Order: sequence, then structure tokens, then C-alpha cells
Amino acid sequence: MYCPFCNADDTKVIDSRLVADGGQVRRRRECVACTERFTTYEMAELVMPRVIKTDGTREVFDEEKLRAGLQRALEKRPVSIEQIEVALTQIKHFLQVTGEREVSSRMIGEEVMTKLRELDEVAYVRFASVYRSFQDLSEFQDELNRLNALKPVAENK
Ligand SMILES: [Zn+2]
Repeated sequence: MYCPFCNADDTKVIDSRLVADGGQVRRRRECVACTERFTTYEMAELVMPRVIKTDGTREVFDEEKLRAGLQRALEKRPVSIEQIEVALTQIKHFLQVTGEREVSSRMIGEEVMTKLRELDEVAYVRFASVYRSFQDLSEFQDELNRLNALKPVAENK
């Protein structure tokens, strides 16, 4: 690549190492012309699938929207920003490995609920109640019962 200092088109790699748990390659480069050194980071570019909304229209995957949804559900809950970011990364990874070019918003919603259930039950019920737009209290109660039924599974982990 071109030298960012003098624009010469020949730079050499003098050091190369894995960083971010192997998710990135960090390279030290030196310009052959002016001998300035600089660093580059290389990572795989994984394309997020497009989202098929319930009305059939498509939209680009919006990470900020997903983050905002998670934060809203987890507001005032004992879950750190770090944990939210990890969940977000896991959801994105899940969507990337489907290999699909388009995924339904419903599929994303289900995955978000799976993650929230692991993180915080109150947040899970909050999100689920909005997401599934409960018709009445009995539906809400059904969800709570479903949650209770799942508990022994969670404790076996
Ligand atoms: Zn240079």
C-alpha cells in the first residue's frame, strides 16, 4: 500500500502479529522511500444479510438499531455495556454464519430473545412483551410460564 507520509507506492512489512484474539492481523510497515513506519490492521469483512421485514420490504441490517433495542430492554438492569456488546457480537455472528443473503426480522427477534434470556430475565420479558405484542394478560402469563419451564435447563449449564 502507499506510504501515508510521502505517498511512495512501495512499503514493506517489518512485523506481523495476530491481535484481538486472532480476529485481526496487525502489521508494522516501513516506507522504502522515506523510512517512516506505520501500522495497519487487517480483518475479515463479513457482510451482514439484509433484513426482510414482516411486511415483506427489505432493509439493510442496522447495528445501531439492534444495540438501542438491547439497551432499552436492559435499562436499569444489572447488565454491563460489555455484556451487551458481547451479546450484540454473538447475534451478528449468528446472522453471518447463516450464509443467507436475507434473513427475516422475526429470526433476528428470536435470536435477540435467546440472548436476553441468558442475560437477564426481566429484560427478556420486557423485550418479548413488546416484540410479540401480547394481546392480553393471559398471553403475558403464558410467556412467564414458558420462562419458568425453561429455568431448569438454564441451571444445568
Ligand atoms: Zn514514505
